[in-house]
Amino acid sequence: MFENLSEKLERAFKTLKGQGHITEINVAETLKDVRKALLDADVSYKVAKSFTDTVKEKALGQQVLTAVSPGQLMVKIVHDELAALMGAEQAEINLKGAPAVILIAGLQGSGKTTFSAKLANYLKTKKNRKVLLVAGDVYRPAAIEQLKVLGEQIGVKVFTIDEDKNPVNIARKAIAHAKEFDINTVIIDTAGRLAIDEQMMNEIAAVKQAVNPHETLFVVDSMTGQDAVNTAKAFNDRLDYDGVVLTKLDGDTRGGAALTIRSVVDKPVKFVGLGEKMDAIDVFYPSRMADRILGMGDIVSLVERAQEQFDEVEARKLQQKLAKDQFNFNDFVSQIKQIKKMGNVKDLLGMIPGMGKALKDVDIDDDAFKGIEAIIGSMTPFERENPSVLNGSRRKRIAMGSGVEIAEVNRLIKQFEDTRKMMKLVSGGGGKNALNAMRN
Ligand code: GDP
Repeated sequence: MFENLSEKLERAFKTLKGQGHITEINVAETLKDVRKALLDADVSYKVAKSFTDTVKEKALGQQVLTAVSPGQLMVKIVHDELAALMGAEQAEINLKGAPAVILIAGLQGSGKTTFSAKLANYLKTKKNRKVLLVAGDVYRPAAIEQLKVLGEQIGVKVFTIDEDKNPVNIARKAIAHAKEFDINTVIIDTAGRLAIDEQMMNEIAAVKQAVNPHETLFVVDSMTGQDAVNTAKAFNDRLDYDGVVLTKLDGDTRGGAALTIRSVVDKPVKFVGLGEKMDAIDVFYPSRMADRILGMGDIVSLVERAQEQFDEVEARKLQQKLAKDQFNFNDFVSQIKQIKKMGNVKDLLGMIPGMGKALKDVDIDDDAFKGIEAIIGSMTPFERENPSVLNGSRRKRIAMGSGVEIAEVNRLIKQFEDTRKMMKLVSGGGGKNALNAMRN
């Protein structure tokens, strides 16, 4: 995400490296590069110029603290301004209402239907809501079918009326249905067109007026850059929506839409789409996005995701096993499962500061653990429980069974033994022993 922009900004800050203090000259030079980086990311000239003007004012007005270098100070100022540009505060979705009605609008292909289902899944699993999805795209049977398939996948009911081609009627009936069945959240997916057209706008406006939603979200493909910003403006002029959803941020989007939309339409970005899968949705936090852009990683998101998946009972059991030196290959596999639950491995690693860039050209995918799992899968239950019995002939059999070289099996077993030794020291003998072990 935004790798180009990150790299260019980092290069811009290099100008200040080794400089004792901030001066009009070195600031001007750095900001010229920052502005160029923003323009290359498809941020409009007006926004880029006003951005660097603000940063300049702040930088020159600052007393340089002895504790931080001019470079660090500049990164901090740019970081805060990037966050401010994207909205500073995180904006919540409004779920007040019985049921809460959420209207989803956007062009065809923006990812509207996918997002409707992702949002339903998010609200169901993370906010404990009972959700009804409404297929309001009456023109494209394929769109209705798509929503039905996604609904089934996430276990959310999809409301459709085959014989009715009036989106206002469908929306009204869906809400009545929700009331009748105690469903507290209704998400209405509407029809989109490939480009903005009057009939589409009229239709969505009519649905909005008829059902008076608590939240109207505009979905836009972030890959479309400045077009995204223009579309956002056109929809806002007509619908006065409450928030923006930026989809496809997982692609090689340059970032312009994410950076500019807020300042152009004065509406917050509330969610981002990060892939085609149902859990590829994130709440948008301007400050964390600024962290990411500046290559500072997204530690907070990482920690939160880890906390969500962290199973305390399991962790305690594991600790006891470690202390008693009973950690075996079954525990190893369940640890891998825990990590996998947290999501795409490359995404996760990208959240660690400095990792995003390092991983740019590295091919890491969800299958990163496949080899390890195959090897462990070829062990007998007895071997998994008692790794010490893994002698030469057993290792050979395991290698054959999992289709890998015996060296790979040996490597895994060595890694496992090392991990076990290390963990035993950490959990049993305290930090001092572990430290000594690391030195040896
Ligand atoms: P709609 O016409 O606006 O309803 O768009 P769809 O929901 O059908 O999405 C259009 C295409 O974009 C589909 O192939 C989706 O799988 C894909 N898509 C949607 N959101 C994302 C996203 O966040 N990332 C990626 N990579 N693809 C997405």
